[in-house]
Amino acid sequence: MKGTVYLVGAGPGAADLLTLRAVRVLAEADIVFHDALIPAEVLALVAKGKLLPVGKRSGRHSTAQTFINKRLADAARRYRVVVRLKGGDPMLFGRAHEEISYLTRQRIEVRVVPGVTAALAASADLGISLSQRGVARSVVFATPREAEGARPSNWAAAVAAADTAVLYMAAGEARSVLDALLAAGLPPGKPVAIVENASVGYALAAGTLADLPALAARSAGGPAVVMIGDVYAALQASASRDLLPRLTSQSA
Ligand code: SAH
Repeated sequence: MKGTVYLVGAGPGAADLLTLRAVRVLAEADIVFHDALIPAEVLALVAKGKLLPVGKRSGRHSTAQTFINKRLADAARRYRVVVRLKGGDPMLFGRAHEEISYLTRQRIEVRVVPGVTAALAASADLGISLSQRGVARSVVFATPREAEGARPSNWAAAVAAADTAVLYMAAGEARSVLDALLAAGLPPGKPVAIVENASVGYALAAGTLADLPALAARSAGGPAVVMIGDVYAALQASASRDLLPRLTSQSA
């Protein structure tokens, strides 16, 4: 017997941001391999399937990707509905490519269920559109994080060229991100916002690019996106009036 492997987007944290399709697949799942940071509220949507944590927590030991690939393939030989549950959307910075190509080579059917990615959840929390007529017509999602042995990426040039940029996996290396962006030509006064725990009682730190290390240092250690662009200028104005307070708000 051969099952289907579903790469399912768990969204940014709030369980009610899952798609109806994700909820249906989780209810039908026989086995679920999930990232470490998936909230209990989302895992509770798995009705009968076995739950197996496989993902990494940033800075901690991660299960080797090849081992995850193999476990997914083995599960698809034993179960009908196999789920790989990933934070946000599976197709963005989620190693979906490795899993899809491995499983496809094994002739196992793969389907992808989209999720709300962190950049979109953070934009919703801020109430600031990534694009704005006359201000921002290009949006870049980028990460400074490099896989071992990967060829160098020109992420900083792409960010400098975009009207609005959202950086994933960047808040923990704010100093080197700042250096790379200044070297790529971004002005130190460029408006910046860091949104931590988007969709689940987010925290905001806003200022300019030059403030990036100081803003990042105020993080409580949750997942965070670094947002850069003139669309965040209004936040900067209000935040500097209040001496860069850490604003918090509960999600609905
Ligand atoms: N596939 C995921 C991204 C995985 S990479 C997605 O589409 O969102 C992990 C990074 O995502 C984190 O380092 C952080 O930059 C970002 N992230 C994930 N959840 C977040 C959240 N709730 N708030 C802010 N950033 C988040």
